[in-house]
Amino acid sequence: MIALTIDSKCLVRTAYYGLVSLLIGIGFWGSSAVLAQTNSVAAFELADLVVEPGELLTGEITINPANGDAGSFIPVTVVHGSRQGPVLSLIAGIHGSEYSPILSMQRLPTLLDPTQMSGTVIIVHIANMPAFTGRTIYFGPIDLKNLNRSFPGKSDGTITERIAHALTTHVIKPANYVIDIHSGDANESLRPSYSAYYAEAGGDEVVRESARIAVAFGLETVVQFAGSYDSVEDAIYTSAQAVTLGIPSMDVESGELGNIDNVYIDPITDGAMNVMRELGMIAGEIEPLENPLFIAERARIYSEHEGIWYADPLVRTGDYVSQGTRLGVITDYFGNELETVTAPASGVLLILFGTPPVNTGDPIVVIGKVGEP
Ligand SMILES: [Zn+2]
Repeated sequence: MIALTIDSKCLVRTAYYGLVSLLIGIGFWGSSAVLAQTNSVAAFELADLVVEPGELLTGEITINPANGDAGSFIPVTVVHGSRQGPVLSLIAGIHGSEYSPILSMQRLPTLLDPTQMSGTVIIVHIANMPAFTGRTIYFGPIDLKNLNRSFPGKSDGTITERIAHALTTHVIKPANYVIDIHSGDANESLRPSYSAYYAEAGGDEVVRESARIAVAFGLETVVQFAGSYDSVEDAIYTSAQAVTLGIPSMDVESGELGNIDNVYIDPITDGAMNVMRELGMIAGEIEPLENPLFIAERARIYSEHEGIWYADPLVRTGDYVSQGTRLGVITDYFGNELETVTAPASGVLLILFGTPPVNTGDPIVVIGKVGEP
């Protein structure tokens, strides 16, 4: 158990990590050079967890009670290599009902040998414990906030804001690279699995390194997020927070509808290992992508009604659909049709609601328009 409060000790550590990141982050990490380095490695500290070189330790980041709630905790594993190398943070469970990332991060530590590793992996097993135990989608059950809209967080905020603040302080800022791992939520069909990165935020070097890990991850579909952020306060998404802080980052989406099938879990585990190979943290070569599909723009439909959603039985996520293709209907609670939903653009149908409840303003359709690498 790591007693984690925002005290002066943590601020000192943040400054220490910032300095280390600055020193080792210059030019970022090449691949082959890192394994060859034999410099002595210091212990790695994450809050009160002290991990010696060549060690794997598990612990918890404590979110203290505040504002009338009971607090929470974030289970983490730190794998600290015996050789110098980058710090890679892998975050699962930002959304607590997205299970394939969570189950993949249960497996990853069993595949890593810190005595043979360069650098450090921080694994966040379940970022949003209230949403996991409460089995909620999108929002935490206590404050009804979306953790992936709550960065950089607040040390004295609601429980979701305090979780975001702890992640920013102890998982994002100490890292040289951050991977935020999602799936379709428990109400969303999602196919194909894809990597994503900010193609315009954080400056040229951050974009280049973010693209590097997003491609190395190995999923054939790569989404390029548009836009950038003026300040860390504007960067409310996990990976947006990272790139705005100057830390290369990517997202993963693999899985759907609360499923726990290996077809969704294995690509996440394999992809994390691929990124570690690319960064020279573990040995091995990466198979280059044969036919990557880059998606530079996404079109969405937000429901104009509340009611019951019926996806068209003829369409499936992962299909290429033409603009105007019928995707489903929304009825009222007596079966009367309120809204026919058609594709707003031609492209790959990435996300489609897969369960009946629909609220006004829900993002029921996401289509990826195919772009250039
Ligand atoms: Zn998510």
